[in-house]
Amino acid sequence: MTSTLITGIGELTTNDPGLGRLTDAALVFTDGRVEWVGSASSAPDADSRVDVEGRAVLPGWVDSHTHLLFAGDRTAEFEARMAGQAYAAGGIAVTVGATRAASDEELAANLRRHVAEAVAQGTTTIETKTGYGLTVEDEVRSARIAAGHADEVTFLGAHLVPPGADPDSYVSLVIGDMLDAVAPHVRWADVFCEQGAFDEDQSRAVLEAAQAKGLGLRVHGNQLGEGPGVRLAVELGAASVDHCTYLSDADIDALADSSTVATLLPACDLSTRQSLPPARQLLDAGATVALASNCNPGSSYTTSMAYCITTAVLQMRMTIEEAVTAATLNGAKALGRTDVGHLSPGARADIHVLNAPSTTHLAYRPGVPLTHAVWRAGVRQR
Ligand SMILES: [Zn+2]
Repeated sequence: MTSTLITGIGELTTNDPGLGRLTDAALVFTDGRVEWVGSASSAPDADSRVDVEGRAVLPGWVDSHTHLLFAGDRTAEFEARMAGQAYAAGGIAVTVGATRAASDEELAANLRRHVAEAVAQGTTTIETKTGYGLTVEDEVRSARIAAGHADEVTFLGAHLVPPGADPDSYVSLVIGDMLDAVAPHVRWADVFCEQGAFDEDQSRAVLEAAQAKGLGLRVHGNQLGEGPGVRLAVELGAASVDHCTYLSDADIDALADSSTVATLLPACDLSTRQSLPPARQLLDAGATVALASNCNPGSSYTTSMAYCITTAVLQMRMTIEEAVTAATLNGAKALGRTDVGHLSPGARADIHVLNAPSTTHLAYRPGVPLTHAVWRAGVRQR
């Protein structure tokens, strides 16, 4: 057993309801777990000691929504969008072509590179999805590679009907052979319930089949307009419904009355020139709100959780505390995880040290890289 004492913490965000936010604090972790949290003056001894000299410390980001199993690039689509073209779900097919053509080694290297990029910015738990394979073989391959490098993996065979395929036959494949083959490699299943992707009946079929197979549910819903995604997610007890850009009052009430997390993806809304989601209404109604990057090559090519937080505070009127909670503790809730997203004794030692005296600087100094040090499960990453 090796213990490490981090001392000189100017502001410590624990996300622990009993401990809250501490100043002049210290933290001890042993073998990958937080062991002690409290005032610096009463800290116990440890094998080694790191003085962070007044900096802010918080749990590592929990990025609960990414699509990192891909190859290729969609710069041209982005440029067309910036020139005024609207975003449509069909762009996914470009990445499907490039992903199918890539080798296992290329896909794994691309995934590792993006995960490393996220970790260097303070992300210590990351979810990623299949969904650029869309054949039984390619979806299994994506799931298998993802399971080697991400904390949580989601089956998203229902990302898009492959060009040329019959929609109903494709849904039958997704809920039949594809689900059977992919399920052993994943914990979650998801569906893109949207105009141009899967309608309500098709989405329900996918989610019910996955649930019967023992997978947890997540839904892409209400991204491009109001629709049935949120309603369906809440009805089926999904852990999370993601995007939530266009919500009716009934959607907001349903989320507030449920344990389904509303996961907002503001970097995606900016990159696709949609409105930003109604975070304030969701929070005021009592819904649980998470923030995630939605990193993918089409609609949101960023691994920066700090950018999402800056946007949430400056443009969506979330407080800095709400935004930090959304990107840590509530991201963990969206993934059904109780061991990450907080720094209570017993939690995984996922520790993010900012080169700033408080988390307020995440919004106060937009665009400035503020990650000073990162430990994941007690192992120093940078
Ligand atoms: Zn997504």
